[in-house]
Amino acid sequence: MIKKNVVVIGGGAAGFMAAITCASQNSDLNVSIIERHSRFLSKVKVSGGGRCNVTNDCIAVPELLKHYPRGEKGLLNVFARFAVADTIAWYNSRGVSLKTEADGRMFPQSNSSDTIIECLNEAARNSGVKLCDSISVKEILTVDGKFLLKTNRNDLEADYLVIACGGFPKMEQYDFIKRLGHTAKEPVPSLFTFNIPDKEIHKLSGVSFKNVEVRIPSVRQKHQGAILITHWGLSGPAILKTSAWAARELFDCNYEFEICVNWLNLTEEQTRELLKKEFLEKSKTKITNVKISNLPSNFWQYLLYRANIFAEKLCAEIGKLDLNKLVQLLYRCTFEVKGKSTFKEEFVTAGGIPLNEVDMKTMQSKKVPRLFFAGEILDIDGVTGGFNFQAAWSTGWLAGNSIATQMG
Ligand SMILES: Cc1cc2nc3c(=O)[nH]c(=O)nc-3n(C[C@H](O)[C@H](O)[C@H](O)COP(=O)(O)OP(=O)(O)OC[C@H]3O[C@@H](n4cnc5c(N)ncnc54)[C@H](O)[C@@H]3O)c2cc1C
Repeated sequence: MIKKNVVVIGGGAAGFMAAITCASQNSDLNVSIIERHSRFLSKVKVSGGGRCNVTNDCIAVPELLKHYPRGEKGLLNVFARFAVADTIAWYNSRGVSLKTEADGRMFPQSNSSDTIIECLNEAARNSGVKLCDSISVKEILTVDGKFLLKTNRNDLEADYLVIACGGFPKMEQYDFIKRLGHTAKEPVPSLFTFNIPDKEIHKLSGVSFKNVEVRIPSVRQKHQGAILITHWGLSGPAILKTSAWAARELFDCNYEFEICVNWLNLTEEQTRELLKKEFLEKSKTKITNVKISNLPSNFWQYLLYRANIFAEKLCAEIGKLDLNKLVQLLYRCTFEVKGKSTFKEEFVTAGGIPLNEVDMKTMQSKKVPRLFFAGEILDIDGVTGGFNFQAAWSTGWLAGNSIATQMG
């Protein structure tokens, strides 16, 4: 019997998972991965600061879905087949155990992304997947029920095709897929930090808070979590989460907007009561020496500077006006954001192939039979914490499984 050819375009997380699943579940298929670079799995290598944040200990699917600003609905069908527990089991069964950190992020026990790369390479080898590097697919044609791939080298033929090319930052990079009849949602960056041109806040670089509330009133976004003051503005999980949920709106306003931070994550009334109590108890203390909650001293000095309060004033001398100013600065501290910076550890593209053009129970295109999609090429993206890889493993597994069973 002549074996059918399955070609996976893209040697990243999703492409490997699709190819390995397909080849290991059906030995009647010739499965190859085509990668334009000389190295495979290059994002896995650098991910999680070189440790690879493989997934998140978010086992329950309804909870898991809440971490995807785009793709939540479509992923329901995908995660019903392959979710976090399946990822953990998949790696365990191949000798890789994962450990969970306090915030739920899961890494290989070795703390090295090489462990994941070696595991995927070995699984590909064992299942007979052919790895073809330095081949870039330029054009995809459909001829006599088969795919003809025009590349920088020879033409390639495929009976089944999986597009797992990752997210493209520019719209024109989707053209070779659009020519097959698909559309693409405009790509915009997600997971970035906010630039704040306030030199005084830059001086607090390194100061962090465990649990603040961040709000962007103009786009009605509100998120909680840890925050880090940097020498260019604000970073940390709460900021990255906000950047992801508001990725498209913030792109539309050219990354110029107002942000409000509730540093203590208390209500306005609780903040007022806390300050009043402190000032009453320390009435003879200079305001500069007061310690409110766990606020670092240099941060407190910054608030006094912004409130224009003389640091040598005694607490007893703080009137209603000064109290109000401090309450507002703690409860609703506003900053003008002008621009964004790339987060060093993780960034993704929001946008790509719309999910309504894909059967999310199989990952097959609704426009072109035997064409499948997996990974970040789809209009799916998650917040930080291993959720983007989880989407890549899950969609990759489902695409590979669907081809293997269609052919079985
Ligand atoms: C620095 C960094 C760190 C990250 N860390 C984490 C993390 O710790 N946890 C997490 O969950 N997410 C992380 N992410 C996000 C995560 O890496 C991606 O969401 C994930 O890699 C997507 O997998 P993918 O297989 O869809 O795409 P990719 O990993 O991007 O793979 C796509 C592959 O396709 C190839 N390709 C593209 N076009 C063609 C073509 N025409 N012909 C041939 N080959 C082609 C590309 O060269 C690439 O190798 C990180 C991202 C970055 C940038």
